[in-house]
Amino acid sequence: MLNIRCAIRVEGTVQGVGFRPFIYRIAHENALCGWVLNDSGGVRIEVEGPQVDVSHFIATIRRDLPPLASIGRLVIEDIPVVKEAGFTIIESQQSSQQTTQIPPDTYVCPDCLSELFDPQDRRFRYPFINCTNCGPRYSIVSGVPYDRPFTTMADFSMCEHCQSEYGDPASRRFHAQPNACADCGPVLSLHDQEGGPVESSDPLSEAISLLRRGEILALKGLGGFHLAVDPQNSEAVVRLRKRKFRDEKPFALMAKDIESAEIFSKINPVEKKLLESVERPIVLLEKTPDQLLICDLTAPKNRYLGVMLPYTPLHYLLLEEFPALVMTSGNQSDEPISYGDEDAFLRLKGIADGFLCHDRRIQTRTDDSIARVLAGEPLLLRRSRGYVPRAVKLPHEQLPVLAVGAELKNTICLTSADRATLSQHIGDLKNQSVLDALQQAAEHLQQLLDVHPQLVAHDLHPDYLSTAVAQQMIDLPKLAVQHHHAHLASCLADNGRDDTVIGVIFDGVGLGTDGQIWGGEFLVGDFGGFERVAHLADLTMPGGDAATREPWRMALSLLHATYGGNLPELMVLDSIPAADKRLLLQMIEKGINSPLTSSCGRLFDAVAALAGLRQVVSYEGQAALELEMCLENDPQLEPYSFTLLKEDHEIIIDPRPMTRELVADLQQGRAAGIISARFHNGLAEAVLQVCRKLRDERGSLPVAISGGVFQNAFLTEKVNQLLTTAEFEVLRHRQVPPNDGGLSLGQAVIAGHHLRNR
Ligand code: ZN
Ligand code: ZN
Ligand code: FE
Repeated sequence: MLNIRCAIRVEGTVQGVGFRPFIYRIAHENALCGWVLNDSGGVRIEVEGPQVDVSHFIATIRRDLPPLASIGRLVIEDIPVVKEAGFTIIESQQSSQQTTQIPPDTYVCPDCLSELFDPQDRRFRYPFINCTNCGPRYSIVSGVPYDRPFTTMADFSMCEHCQSEYGDPASRRFHAQPNACADCGPVLSLHDQEGGPVESSDPLSEAISLLRRGEILALKGLGGFHLAVDPQNSEAVVRLRKRKFRDEKPFALMAKDIESAEIFSKINPVEKKLLESVERPIVLLEKTPDQLLICDLTAPKNRYLGVMLPYTPLHYLLLEEFPALVMTSGNQSDEPISYGDEDAFLRLKGIADGFLCHDRRIQTRTDDSIARVLAGEPLLLRRSRGYVPRAVKLPHEQLPVLAVGAELKNTICLTSADRATLSQHIGDLKNQSVLDALQQAAEHLQQLLDVHPQLVAHDLHPDYLSTAVAQQMIDLPKLAVQHHHAHLASCLADNGRDDTVIGVIFDGVGLGTDGQIWGGEFLVGDFGGFERVAHLADLTMPGGDAATREPWRMALSLLHATYGGNLPELMVLDSIPAADKRLLLQMIEKGINSPLTSSCGRLFDAVAALAGLRQVVSYEGQAALELEMCLENDPQLEPYSFTLLKEDHEIIIDPRPMTRELVADLQQGRAAGIISARFHNGLAEAVLQVCRKLRDERGSLPVAISGGVFQNAFLTEKVNQLLTTAEFEVLRHRQVPPNDGGLSLGQAVIAGHHLRNR
C-alpha cells in the first residue's frame, strides 16, 4: 500500500492540556510514523502511513480531543514521504512570540479522582493530585512559556517517581506541569485564628472537626480563600453573616455531589451538565421547598441557591464528611478575595476561627464563576475561574488594545490579532485594593500574551476609577467609549459578528453622550458607532446615588411622574416616615439633587418598591432580583401597558399607563407576584413594539440584547420568545456576561475598529 505524509498545524488551547501524549498515543494506535512538537503557534505534527490510517488519525484528533483542549484552527498539507522509524515527541522549541493560549484552571478529572480514593494508589488521599487533563493552570502561571519553572510549582522539585511520569509520553502525567505527590509536592497546614501555625499530623480532619463544631474555616483553594461553614447549623451561618458584615446577599454552597445538591435544589439536564463541566461554575438553581439540609439564612428571600460541585481534590476530601458546605469568598464585603497566606491571615482575622492552608502559591487570584441556565442555554453572570484566560474569537484581526471596563463587576480585556482575552473578575472599583488588582491584572495579561497595546479604551464616565487608571497610561492614546455602545459591541463580538444591529440595552446606569444618565436604551449601531433611537422615559433620581440604595425613592419618583402632586395613598410606602416622603417630593419638584435617568434598573427598583418587596437594598440589583424571584406567571394575566411616544426622532417608552394599572392592582390587594408578572410581560411587549416600529422605519435588523437587567431569566426568555416569533434574529450573550463583567470586550472591539479606520 502506498504511504502518504501530512503536515498538520493545530492552533488553539493545545499546550499544557495533554495534547502531545494524546497525539503520540493515537499515532501508535494507527501504527503511523512521524513526530509532534509544540511551537509558538501551537502544535505541529507530521504523520506518515497508509492513506486510510492517516485519515483515521486525523478524524480521531477532531473527535477524541483531551477534555481541556480545544482546537481553534487545524490545517493539513500533503508533503513528500520521509520513511522514518516510529513516532516521537520532539522537545519544545523556544520562541519569542507566544501565541498559544494558557489554559484555564479546571476540575479534578475522573481518572485522578478514582486514584484519590484508591488505597492501592500512591496518591491515595493526596489533596494535590492532578494530571495533564486536570488541575491548576492559570492561577499558578507566573510567566511564559507554560512550563514548570514559570509556575508556582517551581517551588517543588519532583521526586524520581513523579519525574519519570513527567518524562514518559505514555503517562497521563507527561509534562503535567503541576505534577506532584505526597513525597515531593505541596502539603496542607493548619493555622489558628491569628494565622499562627498549629502542629498537626492531620490538618484535614482537624479542619473537619472545626466545621462540625459550627466554626468558620478559611480554606485556601485554587484561586483564593473561601470561608466555609456547615449550612445546617444556622448559628454558624448567622455568625458568618455578622462577621462578614453581609446581611442578606446569598452565600454559595458546595454540594458533595449531584445527589446531595438535588435534596435542596431542582436540577434540569442542562444545569446538571453545567454543574459537572470542567469549569465548575456556581450555578443558580431553584430551591426545593421544605428541606432541612440548608438553613434559610444561606440565601434569605431568594428562590434560587448558588450551587457548585467540588473542583479540587481537597474539596472532595473535605466534603466526604458533609452533604454540602457554605463556600463564600474569603474577603470583607467590597474587597477582592484573599489569595496570599499572610494577606489572608491579616484580612480574615476576626472572621475565620481557623485556616486550612497549603504551600502551593497562588499567582493570580480568580473568584468562582457564576452561571445560570436561561432559555435552555448557559449564561455566565460572572466569568472567572475555569473560563479565564480562554479567549473570545473576534470577527476580525485588529491592532492590540487594552480595555479597562467600567466601575462595577470590573474585568479588563486585552486583544491580540483576532483574539480577545478577558481578565478574571476584578470586582467593584470602590477602593484601592481593587484598583491595585486591576493594575496587576493588566500587567500580568500583557506579559502572558506578550502584547503591547496601542490604545487604551475606557468608559465615557470621567469619574470612574477605571477611567483614571487609563488616564495614567500616559504614553498610550485613549478612547472613551459610551457605556451602552460598549454593551452592544460586546454582544456582537460575543456572537462573532460585526454587522449593524438594534441593541436593546437594559442596564443600571451609564453616562450618555448628552451628559445624562442612560440605562434603558435602544441603539442602532455597530463597532463603528451608534444612534440612540429609543429609550425609557426619563425619571428623576431624587438624591442621586441614594436612589440606587433606596428603591422607595424611585417609587415616589415614578408616582410623581404619573400623578404629579396628587399622589394616591399607598400602604406599601407606610414604612417610610411622612416627613422623608414630603422632603423627597420637594426635591423632585424643585429639581434639587435629582438627576434624570432612563435606567431600566431604576424602573425595576421603583416597581419592586411599589410591589412592597423592598424599600432599601443591601447590595446592587437586590430589588430587581427579588422582583424576578417573586414572579408568578399566569398566561391569563394582562401585561401592563407602556405607550410609545415620538419625540425628536426618538421613541420614548412611557411607563405612566403601567403605573396606573399597577396602583389599581395595589388598591385591589393583588400580590407582588402578579404585579411582577404583569410588569415583566408588559416591558417585554414594549421591547417588541419598539423593534417593530424600527423595522418599519429602517428595514429588518438583528436585535442584540445586553446590559445587567438581562441577567433576569424571565425577561430575557420573554423578550427572546416575542422577538423570535416576530421573526427577528436575536443575539444573546454566550461567552461573556450581559452585565458590566462583559463590557471590556465591547470597549476593545470598538477601539479595534477605531484603529482600523483611523
Ligand atoms: Zn487528572
Ligand atoms: Zn513525587
Ligand atoms: Fe452596564
